[in-house]
Amino acid sequence: PLLGQTIGENLRETVAKFPQRDALICVEQQYRATYAEFWEQVEQVAKAFLALHVRKGDRVGIWSPNRYEWVLVQYATARIGAILVNINPAYRAAELSYALTQSGISVLVSAVAFKDSNYKQMVQEAEEVCPELRKTIFFDENWDEFLQGTSHVSTHDLEAVEATLQFDEPINIQYTSGTTGFPKGATLTHHNILNNGYFIGQRLNYTELDRVCIPVPFYHCFGMVIGNLCCTSHGACMVVPSDSFEAAKTLYAVEKEKCTSLYGVPTMFIAELQHPDFEKYNLTSLRTGVMAGSPCPVEVMKQVQSRMYMREVGICYGMTETSPVSTQTKIGTPLEKQVSTVGTIHDHLEIKIIDPSTGQTMPRGVAGELCTRGYSVMLGYWNNPEATREAIDAGRWMHTGDLATMDEEGYINIVGRIKDLILRGGENIYPREVEEFLHKHEAVADVQVIGVPSEKYGEEVMAWVKLKEGYNLTAEDLQVYCKAHIARYKIPKYWKFVDGFPMTVSGKVRKIAMREESIAELGLEHVAK
Ligand code: ATP
Ligand code: MG
Repeated sequence: PLLGQTIGENLRETVAKFPQRDALICVEQQYRATYAEFWEQVEQVAKAFLALHVRKGDRVGIWSPNRYEWVLVQYATARIGAILVNINPAYRAAELSYALTQSGISVLVSAVAFKDSNYKQMVQEAEEVCPELRKTIFFDENWDEFLQGTSHVSTHDLEAVEATLQFDEPINIQYTSGTTGFPKGATLTHHNILNNGYFIGQRLNYTELDRVCIPVPFYHCFGMVIGNLCCTSHGACMVVPSDSFEAAKTLYAVEKEKCTSLYGVPTMFIAELQHPDFEKYNLTSLRTGVMAGSPCPVEVMKQVQSRMYMREVGICYGMTETSPVSTQTKIGTPLEKQVSTVGTIHDHLEIKIIDPSTGQTMPRGVAGELCTRGYSVMLGYWNNPEATREAIDAGRWMHTGDLATMDEEGYINIVGRIKDLILRGGENIYPREVEEFLHKHEAVADVQVIGVPSEKYGEEVMAWVKLKEGYNLTAEDLQVYCKAHIARYKIPKYWKFVDGFPMTVSGKVRKIAMREESIAELGLEHVAK
C-alpha cells in the first residue's frame, strides 16, 4: 500500500529500526553517519531553521553541489514542513535571481564557491534584486554559527511543528532539467516523492544491507528521490562519491564502500566504462543500480551488466513532474526486455498512450504520447497555472511530451520526445533509432542525432559523433556503413565529429543547443520548432 506519512515520520521509523547502520557516507568529504547520528544532525538543522523563524510553507533554497549538508537540509526542511527549492548548481547570477524570485525564497543555503565559480559574489548580486531573501547560510562560512543559534528551540518545539504537518502538503519545488527550454518548477508533496522513492527501492529489492552509490546531482530528482528518499525509506546507505560527477571518483567510491548499487544517466556509465583505469577498480560488490534520464543504447546496457556486474540493473523512466519514476524494469525482467524497454508501470499508477492531436488511445505497439495519472503527479508548476493546465488535463492525466509504445505484456518503450522527432519529407524519423544503429559501429563512442532545417524536406538528419580513441573515420565512411543497413531517408546528411555534447547538469544532452549550433555552423535558415 501507499505510505500515508510525512518524510519526517518515515525517517523516524527507519532510524528506530536501524540506528547503527550506515545512513550517509560522503567519500570525498570524508563524512560518515549512522542512522542514529544522521537523525541527530537533521534535528539540529531543523531546530536551526526554526530559530531563524522558518515556518511551514516558507521556501528555503539550496544552491550547492552534492555534499552531506545538502542531505541534512533536505530532511530538516521536510521535518518542519518548509518547501525546499532545489537550485541547479550550474546556474549563474541571472538564473539564480530568477529561481529566488520565482519561488519567493526567504532563506538560501549555499556553498561559497563551486568549481571556478564564485557563488558568494553571485548570491550578493542576487540579494540586491530579491527583497524576500533575508538570510543566506554558506556551508564553508556561517554554517556552524547557524547550527549554534538553536539554544532557545527545544525538541518539544520541533515536535509541535511536526504535529501540524500533513503528508499531502507541498515540500519541494524541483526545477526540470531544462533540456527542451526554460526549466519549470514542479511542486511536489511528501506523499509524491516519499512513495515514489519507496516503490523504486521495492523494485530493486532494497533492504538495509544495500549501499547505494549516488553520483547524480541532489538538486535533481534522480539524486534526491531515486537516491536519498529511496535509501532512507528502506534503511539503505547513501554513498556520495564527490561534489559533482567524475568517473574515477565514482568507481573508487563503489570499490571503497563496497556498494551494491550504482546510479547514473547513460552518459555517466559510458564515461565509467571508457575510463582508462576502469579495469583497476574492483566492482564485484555491485548487483544492481538505476539507469534513467535518457535512452540507454543497448550496447551500453550489455556492458553494464557484464563488465560492471550489475546483472539486475533497473531501467527507470519518468520526469520531475511525476516525482519522478513512472515505469521501471523489475528484478527478473527477461534480458531482452531489460535492454530494450523501460519496464512496466509502477504500482498505484496508471498509464495510457494517446494520439496527441485527438486524445484517442493508441493500439498496442503503436507510438503515441505517454500520459500518467496517480499519486505521483505533481500539484502543479509553482506559480504558473497556465503551464500546469497545459501539462495536466482535467482528468488529472500528466501529458509527458514523450512518445512511447506499449507491448502486449505492458512493457513500455520510449521512442523519443515529441520535440525531437525529425519530420523529413513526410517521413517520421526517430533519432533514437539512428543513434542505436550508429552505436553498433566499433569506432563510435557516443552519438546524438538531431533534425536541422531544410528547404527541400522540411528537416534533414544530422549526427554528432564522438569517436573512440585511436579511430579516424570520415563522414563518408559512416555514410557507406549506413547505406548497407538502414533506409536512405534516415541516413544523416550532415555529420560533425565532436569530443562531447552540450549537457545539462543532470547529464542530459541538450539537443536544442546542438540544433542552434549546427544551424549557425551550416548557415541554415532558422525554422522555429
Ligand atoms: P525540461 O522538461 O526542462 O525540458 P527534462 O524533460 O529533461 O527537461 P527531466 O524532468 O529531468 O527534465 O526529465 C524527464 C524527461 O527525461 C522525460 O520526459 C523523458 O523525455 C526523459 N527520460 C527520462 N527517463 C528516460 C528513459 N529511461 N529513457 C528515455 N528517456 C527518458
Ligand atoms: Mg520535461
